[in-house]
Amino acid sequence: MLIAMKQGSTRDDLARVCRAVEDLGFHAHVLTGSQRTAVAITGNPGPIDPTLFEALPGVAEAIAVTRPWTRAGRDAHPEDTVIRIGNARIGSGSGPFVVAGPCAVESEEQILSVARILKDAGADALRGGAYKPRSSPYSFQGLGRDGVHLLAKAKEATGLPVVTEAVDEASLEQVLRVADIVQIGARNMQNYALLKRAGRCGRPVLLKRGLSATAEELLLSAEYLLDAGNPEVILCERGIRTFSQHSRYTLDLSIVPALRELSHLPVFVDPSHATGHSERVAPMARAAVAAGADGVLFEVHPAPERALSDARQALLPGAARELIAQLRELAPIVSRRTEALR
Ligand code: PEP
Ligand code: MN
Repeated sequence: MLIAMKQGSTRDDLARVCRAVEDLGFHAHVLTGSQRTAVAITGNPGPIDPTLFEALPGVAEAIAVTRPWTRAGRDAHPEDTVIRIGNARIGSGSGPFVVAGPCAVESEEQILSVARILKDAGADALRGGAYKPRSSPYSFQGLGRDGVHLLAKAKEATGLPVVTEAVDEASLEQVLRVADIVQIGARNMQNYALLKRAGRCGRPVLLKRGLSATAEELLLSAEYLLDAGNPEVILCERGIRTFSQHSRYTLDLSIVPALRELSHLPVFVDPSHATGHSERVAPMARAAVAAGADGVLFEVHPAPERALSDARQALLPGAARELIAQLRELAPIVSRRTEALR
């Protein structure tokens, strides 16, 4: 950390700052410039909270040099994290790992038919919510335990790994009966109690970016999972709120290379929740793969007009099949060419 002193700060201010640093067991090095003075801190084993110094008299600002997401960041972990799900690998250019399925599990017939189609189309995992975080308390909230049971049936019938969401600690206990990957949704990205519990769940976690979270906040949420002992975390861009109104959210694709630079964790993109329109899902899924995403996640429903949630964005099974084929064709072309652009 670097503590910049204000112009006009006194010798006493500087001495007080150095004392505060040394009282914490660290070393303070005074850097005297022609206009301003700064204090560099060394000997700290990890990030330091800048607010410890910012309120001291004469301090202009405290600038963190060590990134606060020590476990999620590349500094301490330069190689890409690779997660194995069955025979598939996620991360480090093995992708794209394709996760698809209905927004919510609605019935045995619905989830089994989608699962069979996706298996045949070459998807890597089936996704369906048994517990749904809905904006309105009057909207369909998911089938709960019955939904978990139906996901288990679909998994047994097709062999597809299952991705499903936990919305709180009680639902996490339930979804662990079937989930190969536990999803933590955008609204719960900063539910720290849930993150701590999911950090001890022994299953990979797909962590979706909050509706208005920065990349740093997403990485700090991932840090909770990693710090609690779970090294298998997937970051997922799912659209953020902006002033744009043509789309449900704004898909922030540039976060894909940004996260890959900052972090070793795999990065997925969800074009369904980002765009909210089924016609826009395939173009943005292709763009995500072209941008280097390790996986994509999109919604499919056998009869979107009857879907109990997110009907407008669901792909028909035929479109899902075509999209998976396109993504498989696109991935090797993109990865062959990116090396030359570095
Ligand atoms: C979902 O994946 O169905 C969902 C509700 O997503 P998000 O948390 O991104 O809104
Ligand atoms: Mn949905």
